[in-house]
Amino acid sequence: MIRDQARVVIVGAGMAGAAAAYHLAVRRRIPGVTIVEAGEPCGLTSAMGTEAYRNWWPDPEMVGWMNRSIDLLEEVSARSGETIGLTRPGYLFVTGEPARAQALHDAAARASAWGVGELRVHGASAAAYPRSPAQGVAGAPDGADLLDGALLRELFPFVGEAAIAGLHVRRCGFLSCKALGTWLIGQAVAAGASLVRDRVVGVDLGGGRVRGLRLAGGGALGCDALVAAVGPHLREFAGLLGLELPLVCELHGKAGLVDDRGVVPADAPLMVWEDRQRLPWREDEVARLAADPGRRRWLDELPGGAHFRVRGRELLMLWTFEEHLSDAPVYPPRFDPDLGEALIRGLRAMIPGIDAYFGRGPGCRIDGGYYCKAPDNRPLVGPLGIDGAYVIGALSGYGIMGSQAAAELLADHLTGSPLPAHAALADPGRLADPDFLARAAALDTRSGQL
Ligand SMILES: Cc1cc2nc3c(=O)[nH]c(=O)nc-3n(C[C@H](O)[C@H](O)[C@H](O)COP(=O)(O)OP(=O)(O)OC[C@H]3O[C@@H](n4cnc5c(N)ncnc54)[C@H](O)[C@@H]3O)c2cc1C
Repeated sequence: MIRDQARVVIVGAGMAGAAAAYHLAVRRRIPGVTIVEAGEPCGLTSAMGTEAYRNWWPDPEMVGWMNRSIDLLEEVSARSGETIGLTRPGYLFVTGEPARAQALHDAAARASAWGVGELRVHGASAAAYPRSPAQGVAGAPDGADLLDGALLRELFPFVGEAAIAGLHVRRCGFLSCKALGTWLIGQAVAAGASLVRDRVVGVDLGGGRVRGLRLAGGGALGCDALVAAVGPHLREFAGLLGLELPLVCELHGKAGLVDDRGVVPADAPLMVWEDRQRLPWREDEVARLAADPGRRRWLDELPGGAHFRVRGRELLMLWTFEEHLSDAPVYPPRFDPDLGEALIRGLRAMIPGIDAYFGRGPGCRIDGGYYCKAPDNRPLVGPLGIDGAYVIGALSGYGIMGSQAAAELLADHLTGSPLPAHAALADPGRLADPDFLARAAALDTRSGQL
């Protein structure tokens, strides 16, 4: 906990650092907040995401976390004059398998009890199906709607005959990361925070606590508290404090395909094909892939989870079933050149019209970044066990949507306020707990990941 006139330095101005600056300088009125950023604010991982959010998670703690974070995002949207592009078309999970349709139903019934909202199971008629607003979030439903194949195609005509059911989860949508980050930092600076463009290369500790930071440019900053908001550099940064954190960086790419034929309408939800599948290659393609040991795996059965959203003129497509793990991020990241074509093929079962783009994979815009992950794929927010050292990180693939709850929790820790119920899931102390570490190998490092 900090004293009244404490000097707080936030290291990193990605979405985590931007949200932290806003919650400390604006909402808690802490006067001496400085943000130090080595690159562009919100220019690293935070610039590479799908810009999507959802309250659909596999456990009540994460549902609580995201509901709170979305409450705060909605508040920011209203305060900013709706400039952060917050929309709510939902996520639509689609399947062609009866057992999976039942599993979606059961998951939605469970999630409803955790706060996702009411589950509505529809028959043949769309009469009771609540529409999403064309813009913004006002009047948007929450909960989830289970649709059978015929109703699914009536409401979303671009979905193909292979689909027998769809679960439309409603407190989900999109936002503009750049607009959100810019607004948060702008508000923090207007409230007295300052932004320093430099890299932190050392931490001065004295008397068992944080005393200051050293900068690559040669300067130094005295501080009473530092907040590590360094994204995928967290493991390395923790080393400056003499801490070893069991974190990994996981590379995730996405492929942008220009939808110049208008196969999917602009207001479509984020669409997920749930089922395992083999990609629909032509015979000559099969022969070529089979002859190439580096590409033969594209002939194997692949897991479910191919998904996309519409952003501007592009379909942003993702399907992360391969694990590329490292201790530290390597820039520039390198992605599989087949990713675009594999995704176009992988979405064919759900969206037959996408076959118009077969062969366009090499022309896709492929980029992405690193998820920074704890062994349980849950966040790290709070004190690091050295007086004055705090963290807001390990935000994996949900750091945009989860940033507001994370920053609010960080501010609670720093100001000694009562902690919310969802604080425990982000407790950094668990990484030093021998029981947790003993169980770490058995934990699901992809829990809740699409
Ligand atoms: C392909 C992909 C899709 C994603 N989709 C979504 C999505 O739809 N929704 C969602 O919520 N999340 C999504 N994410 C995850 C989200 O992007 C991250 O969780 C989030 O951006 C992490 O924010 P951050 O501030 O922790 O890290 P970053 O954005 O990486 O910011 C860290 C900052 O710290 C700075 N820094 C590091 N070290 C230092 C230092 N020593 N001194 C000074 N500055 C330093 C860096 O320059 C950087 O600007 C996605 C991620 C990827 C890769």
